[in-house]
Amino acid sequence: MMEIDGSQGEGGGQILRSALALSMCTGQAFKLTRIRAGRAKPGLMRQHLTCVNAAAEISGAQVDGAELNSQSLQFTPGVVRAGSYAFNVASAGSCTLVFQTIWPALMLAAGESRVQLKGGTHNPMAPPFHFLERSYAPLLRRLGAPVQLALQRHGFYPAGGGEFEAVIGGASETLMPFDLNERGGLLEQYADCLAPALPSSIARRELNKLGTMMGWQPEQLRNAGVRQNEGPGNALLGTLVHEHVTEVFTEFGEKGVTAEAVATQLARDMRKYKLSQGALGPHLADQWALPLALAVHLRQQPASYSCTELTPHALSNFEVIQHFLPVSIRTEPLGNAHQVLLT
Ligand code: ATP
Repeated sequence: MMEIDGSQGEGGGQILRSALALSMCTGQAFKLTRIRAGRAKPGLMRQHLTCVNAAAEISGAQVDGAELNSQSLQFTPGVVRAGSYAFNVASAGSCTLVFQTIWPALMLAAGESRVQLKGGTHNPMAPPFHFLERSYAPLLRRLGAPVQLALQRHGFYPAGGGEFEAVIGGASETLMPFDLNERGGLLEQYADCLAPALPSSIARRELNKLGTMMGWQPEQLRNAGVRQNEGPGNALLGTLVHEHVTEVFTEFGEKGVTAEAVATQLARDMRKYKLSQGALGPHLADQWALPLALAVHLRQQPASYSCTELTPHALSNFEVIQHFLPVSIRTEPLGNAHQVLLT
């Protein structure tokens, strides 16, 4: 059984999720120790436990240590079965991270899967649903992996209660790696403000400030009409659509932080991206490596991408991927950005 030290690198939840995903894809059992040792509250939180249970369900795995706060886990996957599934984080924990854990295995299974996910859809420190829909899913489709996502209800911290459906097509025959080193021309840029059950002045102030800082016109500033009973919550999203990649940047409102400060931080993140020549922003850069490595491995064909930043998170993820797959991941400077090469 492969042993993985959960305290390595960044020492967070991604090590667990990537290990689960790749264990199911390769059939390789693993033992993970010192789970999330790099975090203030180590061990399995509700979101992580839902990922473990979801992975066990779709792959008929034998699992030891799947309990809240557990700091070690043994996972022996069986055969992954496409089908209809429902997973509920039962708190505001992110259900988009649960989706990313099971998606690679269902993508390689024969047949279509329909997965209903409940929990937080717009959480700080996790991919917001709109990022999955606009940034991540189009890249998966380009990789040859059909996926459809439909948001039914937003879920914000602390109430949770969000819901979305994912339809995942079997792609083991169609997966094909590709290079993504240039973002291409800028086609469209806009902002959405989600602020259910909050005073309407919050959305207005965030969008005004962002519009001023980015030099955007009123039609680029959207007040997304989220149903009031899906709040309270506040996320300000900036979407930059380029020819080859769409990036979604997100800033969350919280008590004690002004609407203007939320908009200012988002504008800074987008400007930083605009000034770099990397195709992928910091989050896509860590999330793109796993699906791409699977395609590189299956087709025995190298691929690369460029990114604005290589976070400790991305580097830890590269380590886990290289534990499971005979794929080498190298990084090189590329002008004011980085290039990631998978062979
Ligand atoms: P912990 O780190 O406490 O264990 P965790 O399990 O929630 O927590 P991380 O290991 O931090 O997770 O991983 C979070 C994932 O969410 C990373 O892949 C990161 O790129 C992604 N992410 C965080 N914020 C965003 C964002 N604004 N847009 C897209 N992806 C995001």
